[in-house]
Amino acid sequence: MSKRPYYTDSYTSSFNARIVETTENNGIILDQTYFYPTSGGQPHDTGTINGIAVVDVTVRETDGEVVHWLKNGVEGDEITAVIHWPRRIDHMQQHTGQHILSQAFIQTVNAGTGSFHLSDETVTIDLNVANLSRQQLAKAEKLANQIVFENRAISTRFVTLDEAKTLPLRKIPPVRDGRLRLVEIDSFDLNACGGTHVERTGSVGLIKIVKSERQAGQIRIEFRCGYRALADYDEKNRILSDLSTTLTTSYETVPASVEKLRVENKENGRLLKKLKIDLLRYEADEMVKNGRPLGSSTLITRVFEDKAGGDLRTLGIQLSKHDRVIALLGSIAGNKTQLLFSRHADAVGDMNQLLRAAFQKIRGGGGGSPTLAQGGGGKMDKTAVEQAIAHAIEQL
Ligand SMILES: [Zn+2]
Repeated sequence: MSKRPYYTDSYTSSFNARIVETTENNGIILDQTYFYPTSGGQPHDTGTINGIAVVDVTVRETDGEVVHWLKNGVEGDEITAVIHWPRRIDHMQQHTGQHILSQAFIQTVNAGTGSFHLSDETVTIDLNVANLSRQQLAKAEKLANQIVFENRAISTRFVTLDEAKTLPLRKIPPVRDGRLRLVEIDSFDLNACGGTHVERTGSVGLIKIVKSERQAGQIRIEFRCGYRALADYDEKNRILSDLSTTLTTSYETVPASVEKLRVENKENGRLLKKLKIDLLRYEADEMVKNGRPLGSSTLITRVFEDKAGGDLRTLGIQLSKHDRVIALLGSIAGNKTQLLFSRHADAVGDMNQLLRAAFQKIRGGGGGSPTLAQGGGGKMDKTAVEQAIAHAIEQL
């Protein structure tokens, strides 16, 4: 079994080793490795071996060996490996931060951690609790950061399973060779874990909870530690700063400014709707003046090239309020064609039947009542729509 000295030394980032086995697809096993393989919720390290990229590091299920998957094959037996440090230290910060935050949730609100997930984008823990208030989150976050600022020592040691059972561990994971690796944060947390951690809590940097949400009867906490917390602060500060520039206000008054805009926007929307109806009523009045007589009724036809379906309907309804008016309207807006047929209660004709007659000439469909019918189809040629309306008029 190859040695894993990262268990006792998480800070070595380059080392020499000997290849003891080569597998298919450019996998190699070394006599010792500082590369962390994906396990326990922590993703694998990346880096190079003899200058060749290490794209994945996994634990072989059959015997627990660490397999390094290289981009290309490697020559010879002796290798020099370099771990990509920015990725590793990020994982160490998030992972150690998780130990601290999990213990902080136990001590402040008695909420145990069910699972932990770390990826390039997010870090989360699922707490075995149904609800957490904003105050409870703040309390746990404050204790976690206090532990960081006290810069407590973090140590690791191996114990037997029997010894482990006598210790106040958060939980005991499956044991492979009768030994468990313990990670202890001085006078705060003791946990069985095979991951990589920083040496003192201060190196975790700020621990910031950014989100909490209910997830299948648990609470999922998303948080950021160290450089990730800094990047998060930087981004949010930039967004707030841009917003205060756009709104020409200080950042403290951005929420009030946005609320004011929201209320104004709602009021403007209401006003716009009213003005639109007024305008369509005025447009209807003008159209009635240019209507042509058809028996005892007045016929109005028009195909618009810019009216949305809702506006066409409002216009048709306004027209139908005029004495004995029959309005046969069309509109081609965007990739839609609309027909709206309406009439005054005392005018003649069944609008529903006329609409169906029109749709014999163009592709589409719709329906309604004898006094109001509406329908539509895809984008059409204006002449075709005019001809469909002319065909409907013939039925009158
Ligand atoms: Zn750990």
